[in-house]
Amino acid sequence: MGVTLDLTRVSAPAVPAKPNLAGLTRKALAEALIAAEVVRPDKAKMRASQLWRWMHHYGLTDFAAMTDVAKETRAALAEAFTLARPEIVERQISKDGTRKWLIRMAPGIEVETVYIPDVGRAGALCVSSQVGCTLNCTFCHTGTQALVRNLTAAEIVAQVQVARDDLGEWPSPKEDRRLSNIVFMGMGEPLYNLDNVADAIDIIADNEGIAISRRRITVSTSGVVPELKALGERTQAMLAISLHATNDPLRDKLVPLNKKYPIAELMAGIRAYPGLGNARRVTFEYVMLKGVNDSPAEAKALVQLLKGIPAKINLIPFNPWPGTDYACSDWKTIEAFAAVLNRAGYASPIRTPRGRDILAACGQLKSESEKLRASARRKLERAEAETPAS
Ligand code: SAH
Ligand code: SF4
Repeated sequence: MGVTLDLTRVSAPAVPAKPNLAGLTRKALAEALIAAEVVRPDKAKMRASQLWRWMHHYGLTDFAAMTDVAKETRAALAEAFTLARPEIVERQISKDGTRKWLIRMAPGIEVETVYIPDVGRAGALCVSSQVGCTLNCTFCHTGTQALVRNLTAAEIVAQVQVARDDLGEWPSPKEDRRLSNIVFMGMGEPLYNLDNVADAIDIIADNEGIAISRRRITVSTSGVVPELKALGERTQAMLAISLHATNDPLRDKLVPLNKKYPIAELMAGIRAYPGLGNARRVTFEYVMLKGVNDSPAEAKALVQLLKGIPAKINLIPFNPWPGTDYACSDWKTIEAFAAVLNRAGYASPIRTPRGRDILAACGQLKSESEKLRASARRKLERAEAETPAS
């Protein structure tokens, strides 16, 4: 079955003045150097390795600091390419250490990235794979955003680079890292952008660079079944599934993609995910929606559904957004739901809400700052209207 992506709302990526080398795969990097005639073809691989370490181990954004590269070559590189980071439109730090960045990749192309401490081994970075999302899950704010386009591999890697700049994690620390895990749980559906996600993971996992192991990279999907196998084979990433319901009529409403790939098909696809085992479990995400999917009977149905699959469960308290009809389940209801899962052997399945003071739910920073900018614009317009023409 083919995968279709609604491209009607997609705008073309803006072409930067100079190509940026910091988000290319090793192969693409060597090819770019040859094409620009900055290096001889027989030296390209060696030169690419040298640049790779500077860019991805040391995090350099300036060719001039690459001390083992000949001065003329550095000048030629700077002439042809850039290593610049994208612009950070907004940066917020929560009391609990959660950090959020709104990053402008190109005019009108803004994505958010969230760092959450104490998740995974040390801390996890939640990255976006698309601007907006075509999938319209009814409880998700990202699905309501008008503009949608795939992020390039470079734009995905840039989110990690920006976070590391801010966390002071260059050169790549061997131990005591603050950013130890990557989760593709920001905006967008990663399996509708698998080529770029796979390239980005190749760059992020490379041992001579950022070196975040593939086992610490998790890709979350709403259930694009035909792409699951390719995801596992190409990335060896950990899999997370946004389940949210245990029967088709309800899941059809919450995650409309379920009409295309219903639960039975999804579960079969998950069972066939390459490399699955007790050391490599699938994470099932389940958003707690008051009176919708949060009864003890549904918790039992969830346990039944996951039988025989090496699984972890993440109960996510629903994060409300302006205009939504859903509410988050009461804490007691969440605990009762979790207790059923605990009795079935699933340890601590509730994801505690983080960064509440900075609206840490993915999809919310962007809308908040758009609102702020809109109100600033309105103020300016009012001020202009009130100012008598001179
Ligand atoms: N598109 C992918 C990955 C991004 S969404 C997917 O759906 O899996 C990451 C997770 O956040 C998903 O489990 C999603 O269902 C959940 N989510 C979306 N909106 C939410 C909200 N308002 N409150 C809580 N979780 C939400
Ligand atoms: Fe898209 Fe995931 Fe949000 Fe669904 S939950 S609309 S797939 S980002």
